[in-house]
Amino acid sequence: MQGIAVRTGAFVLEVTGDSFAVAGWGDFGGQEGSWEHGAMLVDAHCHLTGSYLASDQVEATLARAKAHGVTGFIAVGTDLDDSRTVLDMARRMPGVQASLGVHPHEAKSWTPDVAAALEGLLRDPAVRFVGETGLDWHYDLSPREVQEEVFRAQIRLARAVAKPLMIHTRSAPEATLRVLEEEGASGVRGIIHCFSEDRAFAARALDLGFYLSFSGITTFKNAGAIRDVAAWAPSDRILVETDAPFLAPVPYRGKPNEPGFVRFTAEAVAELRGIPPAKLAQLTTQNLEALCGWAPSS
Ligand SMILES: [Zn+2]
Repeated sequence: MQGIAVRTGAFVLEVTGDSFAVAGWGDFGGQEGSWEHGAMLVDAHCHLTGSYLASDQVEATLARAKAHGVTGFIAVGTDLDDSRTVLDMARRMPGVQASLGVHPHEAKSWTPDVAAALEGLLRDPAVRFVGETGLDWHYDLSPREVQEEVFRAQIRLARAVAKPLMIHTRSAPEATLRVLEEEGASGVRGIIHCFSEDRAFAARALDLGFYLSFSGITTFKNAGAIRDVAAWAPSDRILVETDAPFLAPVPYRGKPNEPGFVRFTAEAVAELRGIPPAKLAQLTTQNLEALCGWAPSS
């Protein structure tokens, strides 16, 4: 949730103006063949709103992703206003579905009126997940007790609308698992987004029926614990995401991230698991459908 300059076409020009990057983004390093045969990839968590991405750039950004086989996008809202914008996109844009909620950073904005309005949005068929919600004790942008109360409220909303959760957890692994267990979150399941914990955490999340979504961090060679879990996790519980515009994978580390870059993360996870990237794409798309009932049709 840190500020990132609004991207314009300049970023693309910057990338394509670099001869090395042309090979990387233009044809994915010559690996196009391994992605053929209809391997469709879904970005299980991205942000397409706010100051991150100018609204007139969204369609072009998604078109770039689709040109590289990334055909599904779970677009995530972080507060009530953002959730309204995300739902509007999900209703209009092919391949886009919504995850709506109040991020722990924004928990202080929660009121009974927000809860009621959010519940109304969550009942829309284009909404597939509730969140992102959870705990962030790294930035502490809302008081911890407020974060927990709002997290619990959204787990109850997920149960009320019978949709899975999109969980953000940072520097609060024990508390996150405790709240999920106490609120009976195994009844709705969900995604641990931008998975950044170790095997012990993963095992407890898997026991609760949750799926693990791996981000661009997985491409960082020094991300040992996360890469270990990405290699080890059950095949029917793994997903990949960008969390765009944050956390761009290698070879775009440090640049604004975009949904098409999920292919680099998918390649890294496939390599760690010793399977072809196309197989990883197939698995993760199937897994998303098993969890939320939706997969992109083309
Ligand atoms: Zn996010």
